[in-house]
Amino acid sequence: MQNFVFQNPTRLYFGKGQLSQLNEELKNYGQNILLVYGGGSIKRSGLYDQVIDILNNADKKVFELSGVEPNPRVTTARKGVEICKKEKIDFIIAVGGGSTIDCTKAIAVGAKSDDDIWDIVTKKAAATGALPFGTVLTLAATGSEMNAGSVITNWETKEKHGWGSPFSFPTFSILDPAFTTTVPKDQTIYGIVDIMSHALEHYFHHETNTLLQDRMVEGILQTMVETAPALVEDLQNEELRATVLYNGTMALNGMVNMGYHGDWATHNLEHAVSAVHDIPHGGGLAILFPHWMTYSIDENVSRFKQLAVRVFTVDPEGKTDKEVGMEGIKKLREFWNSIGAPSKLSDYNITEDSIEEMADKTVIARPTFGNFKQLNRQDSIEIYKQSL
Ligand code: NAP
Ligand code: FE
Repeated sequence: MQNFVFQNPTRLYFGKGQLSQLNEELKNYGQNILLVYGGGSIKRSGLYDQVIDILNNADKKVFELSGVEPNPRVTTARKGVEICKKEKIDFIIAVGGGSTIDCTKAIAVGAKSDDDIWDIVTKKAAATGALPFGTVLTLAATGSEMNAGSVITNWETKEKHGWGSPFSFPTFSILDPAFTTTVPKDQTIYGIVDIMSHALEHYFHHETNTLLQDRMVEGILQTMVETAPALVEDLQNEELRATVLYNGTMALNGMVNMGYHGDWATHNLEHAVSAVHDIPHGGGLAILFPHWMTYSIDENVSRFKQLAVRVFTVDPEGKTDKEVGMEGIKKLREFWNSIGAPSKLSDYNITEDSIEEMADKTVIARPTFGNFKQLNRQDSIEIYKQSL
């Protein structure tokens, strides 16, 4: 385990009825509020009306940015920055899933900068501050509600990059599982895969003495394996929704990965697929992760064996370590198949024709990537080919 400093400043309000906390929170901020949301799910669920009521009762002046896309675009973030600067916005509220929250992070940082937000996303310029913002989460997946990360797509250049800054933590996040019961089955599945993928990205590292960290990450994976099949058959179940919601936050709020860095190559491979084909993040991860695992198993067979035995209850008796590890990968694939996740790039009509272009995108920011197994452009091509 390496030395580490841990601080997570986001105040979390979790559970039924916690939206009422918005009243109290709003007292801490000025008059002009920007409400950011997606394509309309919050209007259909009634959450929009509830939030607007609270804002009106608090006598706030409300400006809106709607239509944040899944895989949020830099063009939308720029619109938000413009509103913030023109209307002298004091506070931003994001109501939605990871895309709405990620876009809000870009807006909040862009509002306090003279640089274009894309230059900050691509690290040509540094973030220097941010408007304060809070979130009301409607989809369990990204962990964006309690971390400083954001993923933004530039559709003109077909690039999708993750970025973050010390200024882009939400000041608070409100998580009521009831707000997630309207998430349709496919998005629920993508969220499950994303949460498990964050745990898996953490799991593959070369650090030693991470005994508690391993158990915490395995705990997230085991809980998801126990809960997800029931949830996809019972989407209205608020208890199951609560379990998955809490798992999603814990998987990527820094709590389980203190003292080491996970791999994160599969997220980079997925961002390249989404950048070219605009597919759902969780769908791409479900396709790619088992292939990355098979490609990388020789890097440290014993970690794959540990995962297989502890999470996927593979019996190691009479098998080599590699056989056990491979069986774990097979069980992960079967599990994701069983809940209805996609397993091939061709499920999204992605063919061999775009492999070169996607591989180019994986090495735009740097020539190699992946902390556990270092990959280059040729490795990307191999993994994409196996994923067709
Ligand atoms: P999302 O893109 O925010 O939302 C996906 C879809 O679900 C949208 O169409 C949205 O509709 C709908 N939806 C959301 N909540 C709903 C509800 N309660 N009822 C019905 N429909 C609902 O999904 P996401 O998986 O949370 O975010 C994906 C993005 O996050 C990707 O760009 C990914 O790369 C990124 N990501 C970020 C991090 C991070 O740490 N920041 C980590 C992993 C991934 P509306 O638009 O109509 O609301
Ligand atoms: Fe993710």
